[in-house]
Amino acid sequence: MLDRLGRPLRNLRISVTDRCNLRCQYCMPERDYVWLPREDVLHFEEIGRLVDVFAAAGVDRVRLTGGEPLVRRDLPRLVRLLAGKAGIRDLAMTTNGVLLEEAAPELRAAGLHRVTVSLDTLNPARFEALTRSDSHARVLAGIAAATRAGFEVVKIDSVVMRGVNDDELVPLLEYGRDMGAEVRFIEYMDVGGATRWSPEKVFPRAEMLAAISARFGPIEPLGQDGSAPAERFRLPDGTRFGIIASTTAPFCRSCDRSRLTADGLWFLCLYATRGVDLRGPLRAGASGEELQALLTSTWSERADRGAEERIGLSRRAPLVAAGELRKDPHLEMHTRGG
Ligand code: SF4
Repeated sequence: MLDRLGRPLRNLRISVTDRCNLRCQYCMPERDYVWLPREDVLHFEEIGRLVDVFAAAGVDRVRLTGGEPLVRRDLPRLVRLLAGKAGIRDLAMTTNGVLLEEAAPELRAAGLHRVTVSLDTLNPARFEALTRSDSHARVLAGIAAATRAGFEVVKIDSVVMRGVNDDELVPLLEYGRDMGAEVRFIEYMDVGGATRWSPEKVFPRAEMLAAISARFGPIEPLGQDGSAPAERFRLPDGTRFGIIASTTAPFCRSCDRSRLTADGLWFLCLYATRGVDLRGPLRAGASGEELQALLTSTWSERADRGAEERIGLSRRAPLVAAGELRKDPHLEMHTRGG
């Protein structure tokens, strides 16, 4: 099943909740939010049913996201349910790490393959300013627990913002190396709740590479990892790291990802302003064939390449203003899973 630009549907990011226990500047900077109605949030069995349909349509990689996925009660039960699906060969989760220390062993035992933890700073005071939470030590404990729990891969994702944490690339790389976790640096993006984004705050890929090579010496490019968004590199000592240059060098042409919100809206692009309602037909009793036909007809019309289109704008500003986000929480990054 290919879209209009010849891209297959293979990756599905499933947001299991729009709630989060942090308030990161680049995602949830406001005091108040409009939350999805509880009765709209998909039950685990409903998610499982949709994953069956997605798998039949070609999806073989699933990532659980949020909000913060670990604030959803009993998440290991969903992991167990999805890990048992024959078509899903990769089951991963992105978390802020706050609740990971306790959860890691159970998630691993339930069948979760890989974990990515968001960590933008090693400085507790800076963490508190960035996230409005004093849980920095818990995040570090969560990363340590994940590396002990035996996941196939543990990664650390760091959003780099100029004047905020652009002086921490080297310490973060060294920390990741010591923990046995691959660090990926992400350019600050202008999407969802990033209402305070401006081009000046982007610390681009080229400057990241310059800062890293000034400390470690020549960097060897390893190329793209399949359709994964990160470009990978190796330091002279063998340490690998990634850069996700979503803002200055987007990778839409190989994008096989789509996103399912916790209430069952299916978004074909991070920048899409509208999603396709899957909850409605699912709860109305649609058959697997009917749901699959909906996926196929929708995907075959997909021509989204949001980040590439944004790069062509002469004056770039946040995609959606705060007032618009309040009117439709589906436009929020924390609703559609980043
Ligand atoms: S902007 Fe849209 S099409 Fe481009 S990589 Fe992101 S999700 Fe894919």
